[in-house]
Parts: sequence; C-alpha cells; structure tokens
Amino acid sequence: ASMIEMQHIEKYYGAFHALKNINLTVAKGEKIVLCGPSGSGKSTLIRCINHLETIKSGEIVVAGHRLNDSQKAVDAVRREVGMVFQQFNLFPHKTVLENCILAPMRVRKLSRSEAEATARKYLERVRIGDQAEKYPAQLSGGQQQRVAIARALCMEPKAMLFDEPTSALDPEMVKEVLDTMVSLARDGMTMICVTHEMGFARQVADRVIFMADGQIVEENDPESFFSAP
Ligand code: ADP
Ligand code: ADP
Repeated sequence: ASMIEMQHIEKYYGAFHALKNINLTVAKGEKIVLCGPSGSGKSTLIRCINHLETIKSGEIVVAGHRLNDSQKAVDAVRREVGMVFQQFNLFPHKTVLENCILAPMRVRKLSRSEAEATARKYLERVRIGDQAEKYPAQLSGGQQQRVAIARALCMEPKAMLFDEPTSALDPEMVKEVLDTMVSLARDGMTMICVTHEMGFARQVADRVIFMADGQIVEENDPESFFSAP
C-alpha cells in the first residue's frame, strides 16, 4: 500500500518552473532520502505534500486523502503528516511541554491531561523527557530539534517529512538528531528526508532520490547510488 503518491506534479513560483513532472510513490514504512543541489526543488517537493505550497497541476494522495485546495482536505492530510524544519519553529514563549500539547488538543481534540500524557511519552521517546518544563531558548539546538520531532510525533502521524533537519545545528549536535531519526526509521515510520547526511542515507534509506533543476533525475537504492561511477 502506498502512503504518499505524487503524480505529474507541476509547480511554479510566478514564471519560475520549480517542479517538473514529479512522480513519486512512497510505500507505507518506506524511507526516502532526497538530495541534490541547492535550488533543485527538494524543499518545494516535500512542502507540496502537506500543502505548504500549492501546485499548478498533478495529483497528491496522502494516506488515502486526495489533496485539493479545500480546507477539509488540507486538514486531513496535515493530520497524517508531521513535518520537521531546518529552523525548529518552536514557540519561544511556551515551554517544551506547552509546545507539544497545543496541536493535539486543537486538532486531535485531546483533553489537556491526555495531550500532556502524549507529549510526555514522545518527549521520552526522543530522550528529552527531563526538559519538559524548560523554554526552547534554554535548550541546545539539538535538543530543540528533538522537541520539534516530539511535537510532530504527538499528532501520531503516519508519515514524517524532514527538511534539512540538521543543517542549522552545530556539528556536535547533528548526531543526536540523526540518531533520533534512525530510531524512528527502525520503528517503521514512513519518512521523506531532505538531507546532505549521506551516512544517514546509507544507514536507513530504502531509496535515495536525486533532484536537479526541478526534476527527479536519479533514483536508486543507497548501495547502487553510492557505488555509481
Ligand atoms: P532546494 O530545497 O532543493 O534547495 P527549493 O525547493 O527551496 O530548493 O527551491 C527551488 C527553487 O525555487 C529555487 O530556485 C528557489 O529559489 C525557488 N523558490 C523557492 N521558494 C520560492 C518562493 N517562495 N518564491 C519564489 N521562488 C522560490
Ligand atoms: P540499537 O539499540 O540496536 O543501537 P536503536 O534504534 O535503539 O538501535 O538505536 C540506534 C541509535 O539511536 C543509538 O545510538 C541510540 O542511542 C539512538 N536512539 C535510540 N532511540 C533513540 C531515541 N528515541 N532518541 C534518540 N536517540 C535514540
């Protein structure tokens, strides 16, 4: 069964043709690493999946929900797909715990105590349960990014999209975030990761997809990808 299906996607920014006939099917539990030069459309591609960008034409289906411009479809898709950004996008004036309970209460309609139990569970899951009462600025970049991952997991998504999640981190914090992602991958999460971390790709990717100039130009399993001449 496929979790994410993109067919014949065309995306423009004004006159600029950012995605050209993108066809991508991601199976349930599959891990995709998306790489390619800066400006090739990687971020645009994953942002289309949860409708942070609108497409000109083509079809996107996520966990059985066909994406269109209706708020209902957008909500249904966003409910299923968690996203983690380069910048962690945490609310600075809310504690880690508060950051994690907002969406589960608003979107999943959990009670405060249910949302809090969920948040504590996923903060433990990313090994940061002891930081729940702190504010984002009191945490390291690596810890903040793990909070962002926990926050996404609190929605109990069926898939996770990562947009260069380690690019804004100091080198010594990259590993703790990648370890968390590896751990999610081993748990069977469906993932699309835009990253330059080729060690990660080698370790977890079922497919490495290479983009250039708005197109998918190569697609392979990691071993053949890295041994290609
Ligand atoms: P990548 O993630 O591979 O670096 P992006 O998807 O961010 O690439 O960008 C693809 C192309 O689209 C780039 O040329 C970028 O300048 C352009 N682009 C991205 N976002 C916008 C925007 N909001 N408005 C106009 N052009 C954009
Ligand atoms: P194993 O225990 O066989 O090494 P794991 O998937 O448990 O496999 O761990 C792989 C790596 O990820 C290890 O470095 C581990 O410390 C780290 N790790 C495991 N679970 C988490 C988690 N929830 N958050 C952060 N790092 C984790």
